[in-house]
Amino acid sequence: MADAAPASPATSSAMLPTYVRAPVSFARGEGCWLEATDGTRWLDFGAGIAVASVGHSHPHVVAALVEQGQKLWHVSNLYQIPQAERLARRLTDATFADYVFFTNSGAEALEGAIKTARKYHFADGHPEKVEIITFDGAFHGRTLSTIAAGGNDKYIEGFFAPVEGFHRKVAFGDIEAAKAAVNERTAAILVEPIQGEGGIRVPPQNFLRDLRNLCDERHILLALDEVQSGMGRTGKLFAYMNSGIEPDIMSVAKGIGAGFPLGAFMTTKDAGKGMVVGTHGTTYGGNPLATAVGNAVLDLILAPGFLDNVAQTGLKLKQRLAQLVDAHPQVIAGIRGEGLLLGLKLRDEVAAGDFAAALRSQHMLVIPAGENVARLLPPLTIGDQEIEEAVARLDRACAAIEKQFTAAKQEKPV
Ligand SMILES: *Cc1c(COP(=O)(O)O)cnc(C)c1O
Repeated sequence: MADAAPASPATSSAMLPTYVRAPVSFARGEGCWLEATDGTRWLDFGAGIAVASVGHSHPHVVAALVEQGQKLWHVSNLYQIPQAERLARRLTDATFADYVFFTNSGAEALEGAIKTARKYHFADGHPEKVEIITFDGAFHGRTLSTIAAGGNDKYIEGFFAPVEGFHRKVAFGDIEAAKAAVNERTAAILVEPIQGEGGIRVPPQNFLRDLRNLCDERHILLALDEVQSGMGRTGKLFAYMNSGIEPDIMSVAKGIGAGFPLGAFMTTKDAGKGMVVGTHGTTYGGNPLATAVGNAVLDLILAPGFLDNVAQTGLKLKQRLAQLVDAHPQVIAGIRGEGLLLGLKLRDEVAAGDFAAALRSQHMLVIPAGENVARLLPPLTIGDQEIEEAVARLDRACAAIEKQFTAAKQEKPV
């Protein structure tokens, strides 16, 4: 053993190896650009998985962080927190919701939404209504309950019996399947307006409206998971605002803190009626530091013109991507998504992981998702120049992949 070769960085890590990490690390960020530790510049069209909503190190957000950081970080929810009160009021003013509960992550925001839905029926005299209907391809987080809610069996395997109370993998976008899944034990339908991890899956136009009607008819709650689709990503503050309906409960995270760990679940007064004193809690959630950052992020997202600009930028990017699809039909099969929640559906021969690696060779980041899709989730602040830069890098990556195809064909013995 004395002469064992030095371990590679990957195997010498003291971090639990649950991730395959790309061999790059970053030292700074500005807008949609990252600077790696070796000094190279990278175009970030992943935004840390839809988190860096207003770009990296936005001066307004940094100023809020520094200012609050010098004053007070944390007090606990045993006391009044003006920054959290303000953020909650602004979020309820801008949405369907009457109440907000702040969390530290998306999965916690989902746990809270699930608890709220069940406690509503309990308070309503229907303790038997506990089941949450969820969809195939859904992703709601990695806690024991949220893996049981999600559509991926691999995330459940080996962790003992899945948490009960979910009717999983109902066909996404299929209102008849949803109707058939409702029974006298159903508490709520939980759905992403656009599935993110599942592969930027956009349901049929009327799906949310039909689900709303179904929930009203059967007296069950509609809970939306807007952890990925919310906070301006689709060009509206929340994706449900494109559908003409409102949910009863909603989970939010990712873009709300722009990188500071912050999430929330929100509810109408009625749907939240079971969540009285003592029914839920968190030590960190909504502390002064996190909510000061949240307010600064919201300042930017709610500024006049910001969301319209996201919608327009999304359209422009989509048009440019359409040209890319025309130029590289061997690599890209189509485009999915709304606003800046976009996906490139790749040909079966091109694995999304390989596509992301080819783009890393061009110093550009994208995020693989289900159904062999590469997600484009840039900061919502990108401009024309970044669109052109992204399209140029995507074009070069596609060309490199096509070259590999040609080389592989020539190598084949006749
Ligand atoms: C990322 C995500 C979650 C989980 O959020 P975490 O902060 O990783 O716990 C839940 N739902 C959706 C739709 C997500 O995209």
